[in-house]
Amino acid sequence: MKLFVTGAAGFIGSNYVRWILEHTDHEVTVFDKLTYAGNMSSIEDVIDDRRARFVKGDICDQDAVTEHLHGHDAVVHFAAESHVDRSIADPYAFVTTNTFGTSVLCDVALRAEVSKFVHISTDEVYGTIDEGSFRETDVLTPRSPYSAAKAGSDLLALSYHTTYGLPVVVTRCSNNYGPYQFPEKLIPLFTTNLLDGKTVPLMGDGGNVRDWIHVEDHNRAAHLVFERGEPGEVYNIGAHNELTNHDITMRLLELTGRDESAIEWVPDRLGHDRRYSVDIDKVTALGWQLERDFDAGLAHTVEWYRAHRDWWEPLKRRVGL
Ligand code: NAD
Repeated sequence: MKLFVTGAAGFIGSNYVRWILEHTDHEVTVFDKLTYAGNMSSIEDVIDDRRARFVKGDICDQDAVTEHLHGHDAVVHFAAESHVDRSIADPYAFVTTNTFGTSVLCDVALRAEVSKFVHISTDEVYGTIDEGSFRETDVLTPRSPYSAAKAGSDLLALSYHTTYGLPVVVTRCSNNYGPYQFPEKLIPLFTTNLLDGKTVPLMGDGGNVRDWIHVEDHNRAAHLVFERGEPGEVYNIGAHNELTNHDITMRLLELTGRDESAIEWVPDRLGHDRRYSVDIDKVTALGWQLERDFDAGLAHTVEWYRAHRDWWEPLKRRVGL
């Protein structure tokens, strides 16, 4: 099978393609615009594989998508603007790539008659929840420009199933951690700052809760949804591993041998969602289960950043972190 994978020079997509090449005999085209978040250094080993190739392109460019997508059997769509803080500073880029770009991709995929279109989304589209967990049928109440633009993309992708029969499946996953995550996101930013002897900016009261999942567990679930998911359906993915940002910070301090004096308390993010939580019965019923223990996974992740300064130092310099 030939897979067209968008955004695979980024964090989750690069890990996905690496996993696919290792565990299946599929061929892969990585289609990525190489924004600040997309890096050839994340996929050098991947595109060395004879079953993989790289195309630099923008999902908003219909001609480019048409030229390169035709001839593929399926689409796995990771490409997005993904950083909430950036969406607060500049929402427009998020609407363009996440919503408009997804509609271009659906349109071309329909004409290319792909057999599956996996739209990778986020638990953030449901908004914040004080108690309990969101199910796939719950109303979307996104609260940041990032999550609103992702919600728009989910609805558009699903409308292509309802209206035109495009075999769309949508995944909504919780917060990922692991290797190759751009060092502006909480875990790699804090880890690399701590390894450099710097402070870490903890927002608000540090009490915001996220459900952390290792990127490999997410990607195995996304692949299972690709293989067994019912077109037109949404599948939540999560780890039931809810921690406050303060909890995460304390673990990272311990793993890097630093103490609480490294915490710099900073003003809260505008409209900061307090807690995300998703019910994962539906993806579990497909046969998925979590494999990575969080403490071991986090320790392994910190060691990966310790051993890969050559990967993250140039990226942090480039964006002034
Ligand atoms: P990322 O920012 O690390 O990577 C995004 C990739 O998309 C980059 O390689 C970038 O160059 C590419 N891209 C951006 N705009 C593009 C465009 N117009 N055309 C082509 N390529 C473009 O993001 P990530 O963390 O790997 O997230 C991947 C997907 O997973 C996103 O759709 C995100 O919403 C979703 N997701 C992320 C998380 C998380 O915790 N990181 C959790 C749930 C869902």
